[in-house]
Amino acid sequence: MSIPIAIIGTGIAGLSAAQALVEAGLDVQLFDKSRGSGGRMASKRSESGSLDLGAQYFTARDRRFAEAVQQWRARGWAAEWTPALYHAREGRLSPSPDEQVRWVGTPRMSSITRAMLGALPVQFSCRITEVFRGDQHWHLQDADGNSHGPFSHAIVATPAPQATNLLAAAPKLASVAASVTMEPTWSVALSFAEPLDTPVEGCFAQDSPLDWLARTQSKPGRAPSPDSWVLHASSEWSRHNLDLSKECVIEALHGAFAEMIGCAVPPPVESIAHRWLYARPATAHQWGALSDGDLGLYACGDWCSSGRVEGAWLSGQETAKRLQAHIANHAWN
Ligand code: FAD
Ligand code: NAD
Repeated sequence: MSIPIAIIGTGIAGLSAAQALVEAGLDVQLFDKSRGSGGRMASKRSESGSLDLGAQYFTARDRRFAEAVQQWRARGWAAEWTPALYHAREGRLSPSPDEQVRWVGTPRMSSITRAMLGALPVQFSCRITEVFRGDQHWHLQDADGNSHGPFSHAIVATPAPQATNLLAAAPKLASVAASVTMEPTWSVALSFAEPLDTPVEGCFAQDSPLDWLARTQSKPGRAPSPDSWVLHASSEWSRHNLDLSKECVIEALHGAFAEMIGCAVPPPVESIAHRWLYARPATAHQWGALSDGDLGLYACGDWCSSGRVEGAWLSGQETAKRLQAHIANHAWN
């Protein structure tokens, strides 16, 4: 067995890179600070079933990503979602149908990353605090004081603010990561004993604390009851209410939802709030990935690209491509 490549982060970017490298015959070892894979594509198991508190759906505009999504669909990991779409503006709710194809993981968003992880070697609940190079190889230090290694290369696949320190061995890459601002999102799920009397299944909102809401049961493969809704606060509202208690966030977003949805909204039987501190990059970038090939240090994630599932996946592919190209060039020299 060859010396593996360390990948920090098992979101879609890290897993996309891992998959491409393994397909090329290289060994990888993954690490994540969470208890499971998926990052912002994770789903939360609750009394109301699995709830997608992060990414809601994804689109596939790039040919390579569209091909990957078709494979996920064929394997039963993803399916098309065709919600009755609305938009809410200035307190008015209107139908807003369109032709865009939208995808979700089935039976939950995290099914895709779970399947991509498969049997790859991974260590969960392992927060990496340092990535450093010895004489020849890379080593990692975790928050519990354990060290890991040796690794031939290191790929940092975390959100930019968490990547900055981990990229310290390559100051240029670290300063690019440090220049990225990531916006927060408060996400709330509300479950109702009886279905709400509304045709809305997805809604883009403006002029409200909310910028998005979705009815879980309209997504393919979800449990038929209870009637669960995921509400996302806008970046602006989330930023201004970053330190509000979960109870207060639930109350505020429940109120905004009741005002917007145009039907009676009873008290929920279950309510969950989750704060995503680094939900999305404030602006899109076109770096694809960051790399110092001679050093063997790479970074990928949605913040290197479009700030969406597709961008994160493409960034992982770009990282794997650059790393393989460097190995190939090195072999020739
Ligand atoms: P992440 O998914 O964040 O993965 C990074 C991983 O790194 C995480 O698992 C984390 O635990 C781990 N990690 C971080 N630091 C460390 C460390 N020090 N040591 C070890 N592990 C570490 N995109 C869409 O296309 N459509 C949508 O509808 C959509 N809606 C969204 C709604 C919300 C509320 C949020 C938060 C995001 C949404 N997105 C959406 C964006 C999409 O989820 C992301 O672009 C994508 O999932 C990012 O993947 P990633 O692999 O780059 O990062
Ligand atoms: P998309 O093409 O469905 O949406 C892109 C944007 O176009 C939407 O945000 C919305 O403003 C607008 N839009 C699209 N269809 C519309 C319709 N029928 N009626 C009214 N407005 C419509 O999807 P995408 O380009 O793949 O983007 C992914 C989605 O993920 C976006 O909605 C984005 O806001 C969301 N996202 C959210 C977070 C977060 O933290 N909350 C993070 C990343 C992405």
